[in-house]
Amino acid sequence: MTDFYDSGLAPYASDPLHSHGRIILEQPAPTRNDFQRDRDRIVHSSAFRRLVYKTQVFLNHEGDLFRTRLTHSLEVAQLARSMARALALHEDLVEAIALAHDLGHTPFGHAGQDALNQCMLDHGGFEHNLQSLRVVDFLEERYALFDGLNLTFETREGILKHCGLAQARELQAREPGGVGARFIDRTQPSLEAQLCNLADEIAYNAHDIDDGVRSGLLSIEQLRESVPWFEHYCRKTLALYPSIQGRRWLFETIRLMLSEQVYDVIETTRAALAPLELHSVNDVRAYPQALVNFSVPMQEASSALKQFLSANLYRHPRVLQTTEQAKEIIKDLFLAYLHTPSEMPESFHGRHDRERSVADYIAGMTDRFAAKEHQRLSGWSPLQNAADLPLDHQPGLGLGRARADKALWSGLQPNPAPLPSRPSSHPRTNPPPHPRGETPFGEPT
Ligand code: MG
Repeated sequence: MTDFYDSGLAPYASDPLHSHGRIILEQPAPTRNDFQRDRDRIVHSSAFRRLVYKTQVFLNHEGDLFRTRLTHSLEVAQLARSMARALALHEDLVEAIALAHDLGHTPFGHAGQDALNQCMLDHGGFEHNLQSLRVVDFLEERYALFDGLNLTFETREGILKHCGLAQARELQAREPGGVGARFIDRTQPSLEAQLCNLADEIAYNAHDIDDGVRSGLLSIEQLRESVPWFEHYCRKTLALYPSIQGRRWLFETIRLMLSEQVYDVIETTRAALAPLELHSVNDVRAYPQALVNFSVPMQEASSALKQFLSANLYRHPRVLQTTEQAKEIIKDLFLAYLHTPSEMPESFHGRHDRERSVADYIAGMTDRFAAKEHQRLSGWSPLQNAADLPLDHQPGLGLGRARADKALWSGLQPNPAPLPSRPSSHPRTNPPPHPRGETPFGEPT
């Protein structure tokens, strides 16, 4: 079929008509190119819908307006599409990569990942990028003919943005010349994949300022004093709108910062590409360095902002407090399922790689499901508020989900007795029964 974008694409853009293909051969779709089809499969996946209840920085129960993994992924996709269009790269591919890039994130954000990685240290570790690939390659169970989503090489290449050498060799053994190869050969991914990395960075820098101020953990004054880049855009906004104040001033400042970063990436990348004679995406892959970049001053500004956010938001005592509680939940769940695999659904406890199957199961949980499971298994939850969320009264969960959740939690009993001190991290001997045939996510596997 004809790719409708063909005529407008740069020669070094990824082209679905010359895709390296899917692991399982499929007939092309009649009206969609292969990257559109990837994007659609991602949007329809269970892992994608779970992102709505997974933490970005603030735990899901802390407020309705904070970013979640889902809204973050949508913002990354929007930024990536804008930049891809300006650079004549393939928009469908960047959208697919952006929407899938965080599918492997654990509940409770980076705290969850760190805790799960600790649990898995002797068993190959845990890394959310690799987990995103596991989700799309194996863990989604929707299609009759294959596990996972059977995405194209190009989308999978973009999803796997980092990978250690040991893991790359494992991937290479399973799939010679596949998505692990570039971490061994030290070659580059497509421009679309490179673009999504920057879109991710631009998105979280901007929305973490917004969420940080919304939460009260950061103040505009503090940002103005500590981040010269932010102060620069504050003043620029004020020059444009002299009577602006409060939230509108913050939003316009963030908007200006976002736009300037997008323009900077487009201009810098165009300038880098212009003198090169790149005739295909394979020339991009063989080029010795990444070609989608910020200018040097913008890179420095972005790094300074990241350092500020790391010191003042991500490591704020209030964030760290919930971080520690979230880590406890993950570690306790890991021990509990390892000790009693039958507490997991059959598709997980029947596998031979016990630690990895526990990690897969926990990584797929939403924040509140993890908190509920902790309560079910131990009679106690470090994050009481999260566990108290009524799972069947959330807007937008279809009837099937609500019914399944009701069935799942019908056995949940209140804590039988007040616990005088921190309870054991091991499960009670008789936890409420786990309904068989349902995943914790309220869907048949
Ligand atoms: Mg991200």
